[in-house]
Amino acid sequence: MLIVQKYGGTSVGTLERIEAVAKRVAKAKEDGNDIVVVVSAMSGETNKLISYAENFSNNPKQREMDLLLSAGERVTSALLSIALNEMGYPTVAMSGRQAGIRTDKFHTKARIESINRLCIEKEINGGNIVVVAGFQGVTELGEVSTLGRGGSDLSAVAIAGALEADLCEIYTDVDGVYTTDPRIEPKAKKLDKISYDEMLELASLGAKVLQTRSVEMAKKLNVNLVTRSSFNDNEGTLITKEENIMEQPVVSGVALDRNQARVTLRGVTDKPGIAAEIFRKLSESNVNVDMIIQNVGHDGTTNLGFTVPQNELDLTKDAMLELNASQSVEYDSEIVKVSIVGVGMKSHSGVACTAFDTLSREGINLEMISTSEIKISMVIAAKYGELAVRALHDAYKLDE
Ligand code: ADP
Ligand code: ASP
Ligand code: MG
Repeated sequence: MLIVQKYGGTSVGTLERIEAVAKRVAKAKEDGNDIVVVVSAMSGETNKLISYAENFSNNPKQREMDLLLSAGERVTSALLSIALNEMGYPTVAMSGRQAGIRTDKFHTKARIESINRLCIEKEINGGNIVVVAGFQGVTELGEVSTLGRGGSDLSAVAIAGALEADLCEIYTDVDGVYTTDPRIEPKAKKLDKISYDEMLELASLGAKVLQTRSVEMAKKLNVNLVTRSSFNDNEGTLITKEENIMEQPVVSGVALDRNQARVTLRGVTDKPGIAAEIFRKLSESNVNVDMIIQNVGHDGTTNLGFTVPQNELDLTKDAMLELNASQSVEYDSEIVKVSIVGVGMKSHSGVACTAFDTLSREGINLEMISTSEIKISMVIAAKYGELAVRALHDAYKLDE
């Protein structure tokens, strides 16, 4: 089999951990597989590099940030390769560029455009284990780019897709995908299987166990994706097509997104075209607007609320300054978004009611709500986030 194994930050967090990973990789090789490994930076390393840059500037050039941040992954790929070589396994480490990963030109959140599979294949055919630095690629002009936080997951899935690998294993510090973050709710249960669509929702709603775009890509390229722990041999979670899952629970999981901020515009002129102007400004600034609420108009004006990622709040503020209207603007970062996800919701009613009831019984006020076929999201005060996750987890009996 051709297997792509990705090891996250904690899994390669120390030299001892890198040694342990080398042993795991060697075992898979001994079992007769061809192995491509994708590694993250050692845990905390990317944040450390960011803080170094912030020491000099509040607004560093994104091109330089990419050059800086890509270094973290290069260190681990080289170290792991050196360790494997020493154990007697022919191994080649590669940066994103050397692995043939071409991206668009949007520094710090580049998208993969293509992968030249020959780069890795050549080494595999030569009998090597290939260790690729995750999270990075190269633009058409030869500039180093990175793929957004958590982007090593995407590197792994994209490589697995390009090489038509039999399996893509994401090794992390939990046994798989749980009904909710086990750090918040110790009673959370590991799921044996979950559909691409549910995983996509959970990831985009805050479950960082997999990066959202990696799940998107896995679905598109039909990659056999498994998440499991690098600390034990427990079976992980298979992320697969909906039809491969026999029994669909109504609710599969609860997610918490702490990276949210709310913007409220008061006294917005109530006439056609105003919302379009506001959201055009935001999209021109590359801000991802999520929930939107507009109140019923009164006296020719209305109030408009929406959420944006907290780390795009500065961009949002700049965009709002460019509006030439009379509304006042308020910003609130003390909010979180809690969501429940499940494909079974499509065929069940009353799911939302249970969520609203549960939070109201805990005395938690719902500030915004949005729903789709397979999810319900609620914005609440940040201080209630974890309480809400546990209460909802209980209400839908996810620990049973
Ligand atoms: P890595 O460094 O391996 O990429 P991450 O820290 O990015 O690992 O992701 C793993 C973490 O995701 C876990 O430690 C866990 O706290 C968190 N997490 C959030 N939601 C979930 C979930 N539903 N199932 C499993 N882990 C989750
Ligand atoms: N090191 C990068 C990050 O911390 C990418 C990754 O770990 O997936 O976001
Ligand atoms: Mg991660």
